[in-house]
Amino acid sequence: MADHTGKRTGNRTGAGSRLDTSSIKMTTLMSFVVFALFMVAVLWGLSNFFLNSYYERARSQEVILTAEALENQFRRDLQSFDSYAAQTAGTNGIYIEMELEGASLVYDGTRTVNDTEDYEPDVTDIRNDLETSGQVSISETKRDPSGAASRLVYAAHIKAYGYDNVLCIVAPLYPDQVTVRILRKMLIYISFIVLVVSFLLAFALSVRLSSPIENLTNSAKELSKGNYDVKFNGAGFTETKELARALNKASYEMEKTDFYQREIIANVSHDLKTPLTMIRSYAEKIIDISGDNPEKRNADLNIIISETERLNRLVTDMLSVSNLQSNNVEMHMETFDLVEAAESVYESFRVLAESEGFEMRFHPCKPAYVVGDRSRLMQVMTNFVSNAVKYSGDNKYVEIKLVRGSKKVTFHCIDHGVGIPSDEIGHVWDKYYRTSANHERGIEGTGLGLAIVKGLLNLHNAQYGVESEEGKGSDFWFEMETVRKPPARKTGEEA
Ligand code: ADP
Repeated sequence: MADHTGKRTGNRTGAGSRLDTSSIKMTTLMSFVVFALFMVAVLWGLSNFFLNSYYERARSQEVILTAEALENQFRRDLQSFDSYAAQTAGTNGIYIEMELEGASLVYDGTRTVNDTEDYEPDVTDIRNDLETSGQVSISETKRDPSGAASRLVYAAHIKAYGYDNVLCIVAPLYPDQVTVRILRKMLIYISFIVLVVSFLLAFALSVRLSSPIENLTNSAKELSKGNYDVKFNGAGFTETKELARALNKASYEMEKTDFYQREIIANVSHDLKTPLTMIRSYAEKIIDISGDNPEKRNADLNIIISETERLNRLVTDMLSVSNLQSNNVEMHMETFDLVEAAESVYESFRVLAESEGFEMRFHPCKPAYVVGDRSRLMQVMTNFVSNAVKYSGDNKYVEIKLVRGSKKVTFHCIDHGVGIPSDEIGHVWDKYYRTSANHERGIEGTGLGLAIVKGLLNLHNAQYGVESEEGKGSDFWFEMETVRKPPARKTGEEA
């Protein structure tokens, strides 16, 4: 069965490492590659479909600004206009024609774009349009029938130096072919770089993302084989570190549970076996030896009865714990005085204490009413006191103390006996747990009493705890909220 499962897991992992499209590695890699391809597609799309229209718009705005600058220069300084216009035409790649009094100055800076173009017809057209429009300046976009070689044509009157001069500008609205070619090449390089970089980045990221998870998975596989020494390491990311911490805790708890389960089986079998052996040997003794002697027979039968009672107690406790764990406990809640209930527990122990040479003290406080199941809380107190008696060693002094706060009452059961080692104190409430020293001492017990107490106190929402020092004694306590004293019942009416 185990082999079969092992094989299946192995196969699945094998298939996964070949091409598992849902793995983190593949998903990250694919996402990055898709994103990179998308970016490249967007770049190419933009450059092919929008570059021309964007270029046209930007260039048109630029030409108008250039025209204004030329006009300003013309008005400011006629001498230097010639060199300024020549330079402007060159740097902007435009055709400028300035009609002065009887003369026409031409500056053609469009050679890099198109060296065969003749702009005279455009100039003539715009001049006519300028005159007919009656405006100071106009601009028009001219397109070839093919739609490819469009131009912005601009004309403006510049009234200066006593004459009506006309400035005409023709600007090709398409990027020159060299620039386009260079741009294309650059785009190819950029696309290549984007693809390679994103692939490398995706690969690095996917490895970084998946490696802590792979680590955790390997550790979990080890743990499933029962190796509790395995440590989960989620180094790299906060989330994986958090997961590793949770898994380490789970593994620690599993180890503890496993350990206790083995302990439990050992303890329970031991606890069941001892009385059973006693019963069997005393029954044999009756058959073989004491059967005919009524006195001895009765003594042996009494031992058998007391061992049976011990077995009965053990089984009852086991049932109580199991009922408490499955919340299968019926509670009879009432309001009662905890101090009075504690006193009756003390009274029941006092007789025993006297006969066994114990000193038992009771320190009550003022009546403190609580809401709870009286008999179960008495069971809790009885358990504390019987443990105190059982573990008080040679110092046979036990105190029962009640302390009242403003809204709370605390029950303390204090002994001055063997105490509990600090590393074991947290476990005494676990079922079947018995401190190592008490095991050695051979003190009888099931390790179920405090587990039952814990279950019952939890049902009452009570706080509880123990302060203890090995060799000095322990103080087991629980604390409950107090309520108002209930109104006294009118006995006459009840009758
Ligand atoms: P047990 O039947 O063994 O007494 P409990 O659940 O009542 O089971 O107690 C669990 C363990 O806690 C005991 O075995 C004992 O080791 C320890 N313990 C409980 N009460 C005391 C105490 N008053 N002093 C020292 N150890 C105690």
